[in-house]
Amino acid sequence: MNIDQFNFAGKKAIVRVDFNVPLDENGNVTDETRIRGALPTLKKVLADGGALIMMSHMGKPKGKVKPELSLKQIVKNVSDALGVDVKFAADCGNADKEVAELKAGEALLLENLRYYPEEEGKPVGIDKEDPAYSEAKKEMKERQKEFAKKLASYADCYVMDAFGTAHRRHASTAVIADYFDADNKMLGYLMEKEVQAVDNVLSNIKRPFTAIMGGSKVSTKIGIIENLLGKVDNLILCGGMTYTFAKAQGGNIGNSICENDKLDLALDIIKKAKENGVNLVLGTDCIAGDDFKNDANTQICQANNIPEGWEGMDAGPETRKKFANAIEGAKTILWNGPAGVFEFDNFAGGSKAIAEAIAKATANGAFSLIGGGDSVACINKFGMADQVSYISTGGGALLEAIEGKVLPGVAAIKGE
Ligand code: AMP
Repeated sequence: MNIDQFNFAGKKAIVRVDFNVPLDENGNVTDETRIRGALPTLKKVLADGGALIMMSHMGKPKGKVKPELSLKQIVKNVSDALGVDVKFAADCGNADKEVAELKAGEALLLENLRYYPEEEGKPVGIDKEDPAYSEAKKEMKERQKEFAKKLASYADCYVMDAFGTAHRRHASTAVIADYFDADNKMLGYLMEKEVQAVDNVLSNIKRPFTAIMGGSKVSTKIGIIENLLGKVDNLILCGGMTYTFAKAQGGNIGNSICENDKLDLALDIIKKAKENGVNLVLGTDCIAGDDFKNDANTQICQANNIPEGWEGMDAGPETRKKFANAIEGAKTILWNGPAGVFEFDNFAGGSKAIAEAIAKATANGAFSLIGGGDSVACINKFGMADQVSYISTGGGALLEAIEGKVLPGVAAIKGE
């Protein structure tokens, strides 16, 4: 079913949203992007005259009740954003009473789904190596189905709108869909937009296509890097992973972050890039610091010649120019992961240079897609969110979608 054609009037709708928002130490929401992202779907349910049940996870309580990860803390933010007083059900697995009392035009938020291990469906307290693991897993999968069935029992229809967790086959993101017929389950507006943005990049590539992959580690991005090698014209690798490449090629990297067990992998990526005719752009110089803090002493050094006691923390001036060149001429751009420790203002310049080049290319007609928590945080930090084509709410989900995998959250609705 398509959400635009669906009329929620008189129906109870259960919507899986991604309200996994960052909180400060006092439980205040520090960034409402994800709440705002869900609004079009939530408002449609209410405007049609439906009763709205929202469910989400927050953090990783690993199947236990952890008050610091309670969604109760965000009820006011959601109420303000939606313009209705949101009610709260303190036990998502036992919310029959709150659901029964919910009327058309009203909204209810269920407590953190991951207080129940059934949500993720992974056995807890048993090691993967344990001979009893596979039996425990089977049992947990059964319990996951029961949990999903319980959630489904609250509503007449199901909307999947949590792109950030769409790459997981969890009770609320995929399994629950089995308990609704095709006419009563659908993707929400945010999911539709996200899927469309990925499609824009993958099936409608305007060249040159430049991808920028940064962040701390190459190991977590290897799947997408390998996949991109078959698609892009320019691949910029930046951030902490730079130093694994520099070391693999015989460089001295001082105290820089490095994955010593991924040196061969780095060489392999360099080789594959050549074979595929991809212009691999790696940093040549960097800003090194003598401590991992904002006010560390700094010096500019070659990325493959960093003195002992110093660590590469941001892209250097020459590198920034190289990156900008590969970005500014592009017609399709994908950015995931910062070029330095951008959380420290003094090491955010490389990421800012990337953001500025992307904004320039976008103004010249490129389609730019930014995804992954940290690159989004970067763009927001620089106040440039409105200068790129699309900002994805997904990190892992976005990367898996771009790798060409069908996301379980999409497959559960579309049956692919
Ligand atoms: P990831 O979670 O792998 O996407 O990495 C994001 C994190 O990488 C951010 O918190 C950055 O601070 C960090 N990062 C980027 N560049 C470096 C670097 N040169 N050294 C250490 N951490 C870095």
